Amino acid sequence: MKIGFVGLGIMGKPMAKNLIKDGYEVICYDFNQSNMDEVAAAGASTAKNSQELANQSDIVITMLPNSPNVEAALFSEEGIAAGISEGKIVIDMSSINPVSSQRFAEKLAGLGVEFLDAPVSGGEPKAIDGTIAVMVGGKKKVFDQCYELLLSMASSVTYIGEVGAGNIAKLANQIIVAINIAAVGEALSFATKAGADPELVYQGIRGGLAGSTVMDAKSPMILNRDFDPGFRIELHIKDLQNALDTSHMINAGIPLTAQLMEIMQVLKNDGLEKKDHSAIACYYEKINNLTIESKDTV
Ligand code: NAD
Repeated sequence: MKIGFVGLGIMGKPMAKNLIKDGYEVICYDFNQSNMDEVAAAGASTAKNSQELANQSDIVITMLPNSPNVEAALFSEEGIAAGISEGKIVIDMSSINPVSSQRFAEKLAGLGVEFLDAPVSGGEPKAIDGTIAVMVGGKKKVFDQCYELLLSMASSVTYIGEVGAGNIAKLANQIIVAINIAAVGEALSFATKAGADPELVYQGIRGGLAGSTVMDAKSPMILNRDFDPGFRIELHIKDLQNALDTSHMINAGIPLTAQLMEIMQVLKNDGLEKKDHSAIACYYEKINNLTIESKDTV
């Protein structure tokens, strides 16, 4: 089976490499030539555009920043839709607005092409290890056809429901992650201001009810002042915007997400949008005029 892979950024690159490791024949495309070269060095062939890639693939995977990028990759002049033929499958693994996923599925159905939305959680380390979590929306029959392929990049692949359901699950994930990081930042800045060593506070509470995967992934980054991405604040702003847009369409109240969005705007104004989202803690440092770091390192 020949797999086309469009979008070889922080996530797409290791995901495509894992497919190659598992024996899939991969053809790749990205605007960025050096990203393509890296995946080609791991054994992929390259295409000159998404149209050519789709023409040569049985299944096309996209891993792009947001809905407009996916729309361009699918439907621009030299896009996937221009090269794909009836009976093939597109799997969009980007985190985008579920309403956009439904629109793309409908347009592709007009060409006889099936579509799954299959966003992922886990970040770069898990993309490298092949242990990301994939949440999938689309026809169950198409999900079953693609399950083994998706499992080559992941430790869990879960069917959520009709097209768009994968991205609904992903937005729920992003709401929880953003609010969790903020809770960790708020708590560690409080502990610092109160005179405790935030490193020891983290060690003291991580095994109890407050402990979480987010706390264990992000506290060391905050305490070591290591804000290299990982997951950029600008991408999390995109996810929160998609969550707010979706919630406004369905009259769902997500007040803490709205608050996080305002905090993210402050961070963006401070020039931190390319930093990892663990830098949400910097908002609390700013309003409390302190630095969250172990007393040992001060
Ligand atoms: P990225 O910005 O690192 O990579 C995106 C890549 O897409 C870039 O290499 C860019 O050149 C390419 N691109 C953009 N438009 C294109 C087009 N039309 N044709 C070909 N190539 C195009 O982004 P990323 O961090 O890999 O994230 C991709 C998606 O995965 C996003 O939706 C993000 O929210 C989601 N995600 C990211 C992480 C993470 O930790 N980085 C974790 C889970 C999910």
